Amino acid sequence: MKGCDSVRMNTGNAKLVKEVNKRLVLQLIRRERAVSRADMARTLGLSPTTVSSLVNELIKEGLVLELGSGTSRRGRRPVIYQINPTARVVVGADVGNNVLTVIVTVLNGRVMEKIETDIDGVVGQELVTTLYQEIDRCIRVSGVDRSRILGVGIASPGLIDYESGTVIQAVNVDWANVPLKGILEHELGLQVHIENMNNAAALGEYSWGLEREVRRFLYLNVGQGVGGGIIVNGRVLQGSGVSASEIGHVIVDRNGDKCRCGARGCLEALVSAKALEKRGAQLLRQFPESILLERTRNHSKPVSLELLAEAAKQNDPLAVNVFVQAGEWLGIAVAGLINIFNPDIVMLGGRVIRAAEEVLMSKIRSTARENAFPALFEMVTFVTPRLGPLSSAMGAVSFVLQQEFDRPLIELGDLA
Ligand SMILES: [Zn+2]
Repeated sequence: MKGCDSVRMNTGNAKLVKEVNKRLVLQLIRRERAVSRADMARTLGLSPTTVSSLVNELIKEGLVLELGSGTSRRGRRPVIYQINPTARVVVGADVGNNVLTVIVTVLNGRVMEKIETDIDGVVGQELVTTLYQEIDRCIRVSGVDRSRILGVGIASPGLIDYESGTVIQAVNVDWANVPLKGILEHELGLQVHIENMNNAAALGEYSWGLEREVRRFLYLNVGQGVGGGIIVNGRVLQGSGVSASEIGHVIVDRNGDKCRCGARGCLEALVSAKALEKRGAQLLRQFPESILLERTRNHSKPVSLELLAEAAKQNDPLAVNVFVQAGEWLGIAVAGLINIFNPDIVMLGGRVIRAAEEVLMSKIRSTARENAFPALFEMVTFVTPRLGPLSSAMGAVSFVLQQEFDRPLIELGDLA
């Protein structure tokens, strides 16, 4: 429990110092989940009296709860404190491929309200309007008082400029330089934070879907496209100014198919749902014994991911070939990421993984073992997502919690 620098100053603004220390107490309680006054004083380097008065204020404001005795075996059992989960609520919205999901949660992530809206074909300005109307509707349906809303998090497609909250580009929804944060804050009258949907999914699974705390977490989603996010010490690894990590465009076969980004052999060009369907169709002639020949009525029906999945379950050689090859490409990319980021957990999810989880995960793991630095590979646990379709929306909620609770109250310059 190190790393918090409390502020004790004789000069300067006493009120400001108090606010900073109060914020630090709140952050510590949130981070530790349950903590005693003595631990707070020790960790923050504050006097017990100061901690007591700050905690009392937080209790009065409804933000902190007294939990009763802790579990110390020796001596007096200290009273422990935790964040009051219902003190505030958070709104999370996921602008997904075809579905817009909006949720309202309390501070411990419990979902109070959820609405889903079909947005197939809805793009541009119409999508922006739908977004704030549906957020507004979800808030009204939930019945929460707007004054209790801590903030609204958006899991958005595309490249995000964090400074301005602008979506620089999101081709699939026809957004270019859309000042989304500004528009939504104006329309909703609430604090809004924007994060890329893959980063949000990574943060959501990291915050609410893991059984143990880890330092480095890698998340990959393999579906219509291939995306992912990296979490380091609880934070999304952001690019310099913009949401980054285009994991889907890591090149794993320089002679491979051309990608929509212009390069050849990107992960996305080789293992997305569409890429597997294309490869399945191409292989039909090479595998005359495949049950897919009959299932597609001799080429008259397209090879779908679902057909491939079903055939792979019956050990069909063509379908198994498609998934094993995909697993190998994914494994090569994962090996490289393991070597760079040294993750504790690698999570793989999305439509493609779900279609043939067993064969894909096994091939990804064995290829990563062959190609990654052995000591780093040994540290990795491979898992699949826990939150289902809610990963990105829950990640948007986490992003709001981080921005509202964990950001410094003041910049260092303010103290000079
Ligand atoms: Zn690409």
